[in-house]
Amino acid sequence: MTAPILRQDRHPLQKLFCALALSIVAVSSAQAAPLVEPALHLKAEDGSSVGRVALTLDACGGQTDTRILSALVENRIPATIFVTGIWLKRNAAAVEIMRAHPDLFELENHGGRHIPAVDTPRKIYGIRSAGSPEAVQAEVESGAAALAGTGEPAPKWFRGATAEYSPSAIAMIRKLGFKVAGFSINGDGGSLLGATETARRIAAAKDGDVIIAHINQPTHAAGEGVVQGLLALKAKGLTFVRLDDADGVGNDGTTD
Ligand SMILES: [Zn+2]
Repeated sequence: MTAPILRQDRHPLQKLFCALALSIVAVSSAQAAPLVEPALHLKAEDGSSVGRVALTLDACGGQTDTRILSALVENRIPATIFVTGIWLKRNAAAVEIMRAHPDLFELENHGGRHIPAVDTPRKIYGIRSAGSPEAVQAEVESGAAALAGTGEPAPKWFRGATAEYSPSAIAMIRKLGFKVAGFSINGDGGSLLGATETARRIAAAKDGDVIIAHINQPTHAAGEGVVQGLLALKAKGLTFVRLDDADGVGNDGTTD
């Protein structure tokens, strides 16, 4: 009596369904593993009167917003530029200008191909993630190699495409020797905000803030707002520092 029941319990189809159910659970739990968007602040400095902010600009791909680049040079505003291998290849003239002003521009690693540093397969803002630890490592290392190829100093900071990460990818990037650059003010909403709102957000920066905006979208209105916001901060007397010149403190294990 018992044998047939056992056999029935372990029917091949039932086994198959169990395996399927398990793999569906595994896949959905991997997809549900929450991504993090780490913050970054500058450590408070004793005796600083008005305050210090760090301007970080992403050069994801595409071209160069010369409105921003010219304003930084003319107004002597230092910035940390996160460049990809793709952008470096297509923007030699802008790279020349940055290299001609080493006191203003620090170039850091935004990845080789602008692929989110997330080690499970998913899409973030419509961009397909690296999808595996090996692909995250390739993105980080190819970005550093592209910078080394231009004769720039070795990068110390990494910011992945979309600025979202799986926690395990952050741990890997730290092991590869990079700090992970979050931010505290989203200045231009991925360069999609209007000029007025972008200027308002950037002008609201306070002591210790790390601003993120983009320098690769010359046709977007946001770029005009970036310039206006920066000039407002300068007029208020805030000091601009690069990430290498200040102690950046991030959460989610990005800097410690
Ligand atoms: Zn980017």
